[in-house]
Amino acid sequence: MSESDYPASWYAATRDAGTARTPLTTREEADVAVVGGGFAGLHTARLLAQKGQRVVLLERQRIGWGASGRNGGFVGPGYAQRSGALIDRLGLDHARRLYAQSQRGVAIVRTAITELARPDILMGTGKLSVSRTDQGAGFADRTRKLAEQLGASFEPWETARVRAVLATARYHQAIHDPTSFHIHPLNLALALAADIERQGGAVYENSEAVELTRDGRYWRLRTARGRVRAQHVVLAGNADLGAVQPRIARAVLPVATYVAVTAKLGPRLGEAIRWSGAISDTRRAGDYYRIVDGDRLLWGGRITTDTTEPPRLRDMMRNDILSVYPLLGDISIAYAWPGIMGYAPHKMPQVGEIEPGLWVCSAFGGHGVAQTAAGADAVAAGILGDPTRCRLFAPFGTGWAGGAAGRAATQLAYWGLQMRDWWDEKRQAQNAETLRT
Ligand SMILES: Cc1cc2nc3c(=O)[nH]c(=O)nc-3n(C[C@H](O)[C@H](O)[C@H](O)COP(=O)(O)OP(=O)(O)OC[C@H]3O[C@@H](n4cnc5c(N)ncnc54)[C@H](O)[C@@H]3O)c2cc1C
Repeated sequence: MSESDYPASWYAATRDAGTARTPLTTREEADVAVVGGGFAGLHTARLLAQKGQRVVLLERQRIGWGASGRNGGFVGPGYAQRSGALIDRLGLDHARRLYAQSQRGVAIVRTAITELARPDILMGTGKLSVSRTDQGAGFADRTRKLAEQLGASFEPWETARVRAVLATARYHQAIHDPTSFHIHPLNLALALAADIERQGGAVYENSEAVELTRDGRYWRLRTARGRVRAQHVVLAGNADLGAVQPRIARAVLPVATYVAVTAKLGPRLGEAIRWSGAISDTRRAGDYYRIVDGDRLLWGGRITTDTTEPPRLRDMMRNDILSVYPLLGDISIAYAWPGIMGYAPHKMPQVGEIEPGLWVCSAFGGHGVAQTAAGADAVAAGILGDPTRCRLFAPFGTGWAGGAAGRAATQLAYWGLQMRDWWDEKRQAQNAETLRT
């Protein structure tokens, strides 16, 4: 099978070989039908298949076609909404239990890699969240206190320690999370799908669910050429669910972000970045990156509500890299691609039962590789009769994301946040200059 079956990316170029599955052309019966072959749908289907449920998964295009096969590959706890905001809104106990559920998601991904006997999917461990502004003297205490409140394992790194591994003057302190790791996301998606089939589930590609109707105590899904009747349906279509359930489709705002992978850079990459884990900066729409394939830099960044691919994407990404690591010098970008994330207005996932037997597991925003597993775990437990984990997500509903006006408002908010980040950095640089003179 040629690489062109998936949008061109470094992941597509290095993915496991395999042919497309046949579309659904028959009438299927299932305990659970899942719409969407990204991590949310795949984990839900696999966890249920492991418990003996008959599952059928429908994917509009190919397994891992959406965000799950194109992302930065970072796996770590927490949510797109910041933990401090969750504590303020829900109180410490609830925020701590939500955090624990995200840790459960991290563990599910790690265990899956072991169970699938695919150590190659795990590409590195540890994550640094670096700050581009000086966090001041209280940083270490604040970080330790938050970690203790959440039951988290992250720890503060002071600026000298950060600069000993990352050769850039852009960064100050960092938070190190040793429990995070990074993966080949497309190969994980493909391996999860194959495992669902091994466990007796059915996976159909090129099978868009276009209609969902109630039929007594069952739900019916229709595709162009087939039907599925199931007791439970899980909607895991992220930002592009389409006509199958307009209410949920409208509740998720599509936001684009980009990833680039450089050509092989040789030893100079190891001189700039002496760290094999993942790195992201703490700006509202910051950079995230890691070394892959020995000496290539995989770099992600930017967010915009304009979901069309920018014509000069490679130049944009190259400039972003060099603005942090000018010492890399003349680099060329071998791959660059866009991906769409689904955001709900509250920046938290939508997880739970919205009508009897109809479940949603979606809107994982920019923080979804482990969180999809956390959501899938909650939904699978709910379907099997334990609603407690879904209740954690109950405060975050499936309200309308605002359509075109919502997109414009999000873009304005993003520009505002970008301005604030830019201003914070500039003000600190000016202050430092004043102190020197
Ligand atoms: C460029 C990029 C970088 C990112 N980096 C990271 C990162 O490093 N770490 C992290 O934690 N998160 C990251 N994220 C976010 C993370 O990738 C997502 O939150 C997560 O993959 C979402 O998984 P999902 O299953 O909900 O959605 P998707 O992976 O988008 O899957 C949804 C699937 O549903 C299918 N579908 C939709 N509607 C239908 C229908 N009606 N019928 C059949 N199929 C349908 C779609 O074709 C799609 O394949 C990133 C996202 C992007 C785009």
